[in-house]
Amino acid sequence: MLISKVLICFLWTHSWTRNHACYSPKPQNASSKLVALAMGHMVDSREPRMAALQFFRCYKPLFRIQSRKIFITSSSSSISNKNFHKTSRNIVRLLCSSSTSLGQSTSSKTNAYPEDDKKSKEHQLWLYNTMTKEKELFKPKVDGKVGMYVCGVTAYDLSHIGHARVYVSFDILFRYLRFMGYEVNYVRNFTDVDDKIIARAGELGEDPISLSRRFCEEFHRDMVYLHCLPPTVEPRVSDHMPQIIDMIKTILENGRAYRIEGDVYFSVDEFPEYGRLSGRKLEDNRAGERVAVDSRKKNPADFALWKSAKEGEPFWESPWGPGRPGWHIECSAMSAAYLGYSFDIHGGGMDLIFPHHENEIAQSCAACHKSNISYWIHNGFVTIDSQKMSKSLGNFFTIRQVIELYHPLALRLFLIGTHYRSPINYSDVQLESASDRAYYIYQTLQDCEEAVGQEVEKENIPTEIIDCIKSFNDVFINSMSEDLHSPVVLSAMSDPLKTANDLLHTRKGKKQGTRKQSLAAIEKSIRNVLDILGLMPTSYHEVLQQLREKALKRAKLTEDQVVEKIKERNSARKNKEYERSDGIRKDLATVGIALMDSPEGTTWRPAIPLAMQEQYALES
Ligand SMILES: [Zn+2]
Repeated sequence: MLISKVLICFLWTHSWTRNHACYSPKPQNASSKLVALAMGHMVDSREPRMAALQFFRCYKPLFRIQSRKIFITSSSSSISNKNFHKTSRNIVRLLCSSSTSLGQSTSSKTNAYPEDDKKSKEHQLWLYNTMTKEKELFKPKVDGKVGMYVCGVTAYDLSHIGHARVYVSFDILFRYLRFMGYEVNYVRNFTDVDDKIIARAGELGEDPISLSRRFCEEFHRDMVYLHCLPPTVEPRVSDHMPQIIDMIKTILENGRAYRIEGDVYFSVDEFPEYGRLSGRKLEDNRAGERVAVDSRKKNPADFALWKSAKEGEPFWESPWGPGRPGWHIECSAMSAAYLGYSFDIHGGGMDLIFPHHENEIAQSCAACHKSNISYWIHNGFVTIDSQKMSKSLGNFFTIRQVIELYHPLALRLFLIGTHYRSPINYSDVQLESASDRAYYIYQTLQDCEEAVGQEVEKENIPTEIIDCIKSFNDVFINSMSEDLHSPVVLSAMSDPLKTANDLLHTRKGKKQGTRKQSLAAIEKSIRNVLDILGLMPTSYHEVLQQLREKALKRAKLTEDQVVEKIKERNSARKNKEYERSDGIRKDLATVGIALMDSPEGTTWRPAIPLAMQEQYALES
């Protein structure tokens, strides 16, 4: 009842929901499950207001906020406007009635997710499909198998954080599909023939193919740093010229393309469905044409399938003379080569929706009328000061630059701490916060491991520990099933981590007879989830050491210098020079080194630098 009151209070006072808040309570659909999830999330939390705020933030892509009302936008095709209730009273009533129906759940959390519901959810995954603009239940074309194609990088430079976000997002999908038991054929290409590669190679006086090969290797290194699993196959354009040329021939034979001198263009007028994915109309494309229009084209929106060779450029022989493929055709040809014309998932960054993926659909359908891709998945941008991060805008950081100062797993944690479709704002403060969180997670798990030792006995785990683990696992399954809501999982991890720390460090916890079994069980459940999210290090000890080294680098200090400062502070304290000892502590805290006093002495750990702590509080 108290929680309901706090909730009502929150809902009435928070600016998003003040006056009018609408929720779709249509039973037996995704939205009612969402409400159950929201309630579970809040009821489970020790701070319901914060949990509610966090929940709305994490689930932001599912809501549309208009005229100070909240609508669920994309949770299911079965939700329609007519089902929305009109006043804030309804949301309060709904949440309260959910609370009542979950009444017993305040004492037994697991009731929030009935066993049968969980079982059905374990085999379900809802994914937002850019083609239908709706979240759809994932059903592969072949039982138990998934074909997934993700557009890879153009290898001419080091990859930036925008790339990291794409490949971490699809790595999460890849890992989760495998966790669900699917055999996934994951194809991710390399563009190694492209104008940008040729231009860069020209600048450096290097052969374009060798330059792109070099940057393919650099990309592989970045993927290893970021714990992205290798795809099943990584085809390159230069190895697939016969398939590309064959596809262009077929499109020409089918009357959907035309030749001009040594070039071949796709004729968008021959493909009436053009614009279905992006929602663009051909007229819009004409109006928005910014590049100089090639007057030889039948329609300004027509795009090149084959470009005739220019002086000094690499070329391949073709029926239309020497040249090279246009950018878009490679993905149509290579996806067809490895997955066929009909497969399950095609993905990439949101910037590829138009023109790249729109053109791919046109080409593939023009080459084979049976071409069909079930789900088009796109991740959101990385922004800096709300501007898209990109090489062409010059406001980007390479992965290498970032991991020079921050641990790659902290970067990964930062990236999956926001829903993959939402924009993510890159800042040092966010990276500091992710590093701090990573340190807390791994330190807790290492403490568990040390306290447990060789203990393997699984019996006698208290009910509250079993409930805590079950609740965490349920949130994991429910959130990931709902379009891969990894931020909710990360936030729900706080509960088992806190329980572990209570057992490890509080007087009451230390006395518990079943402490070791409980710690072992908690550590295992968190480890399993970290493993699926690609956040599991080789060893806790090693990752903690690396996080400390990065923190020292950011603080521009060595371990010895910190130890020296601790000694200085100890002697100041001994001499009762408290102002001096406090000054040393503060100086270190300013650069992100926190001192911790215990009866055994003073140690240090990385922390968010003092000035950034305030900034973080404002940003979050
Ligand atoms: Zn592509």
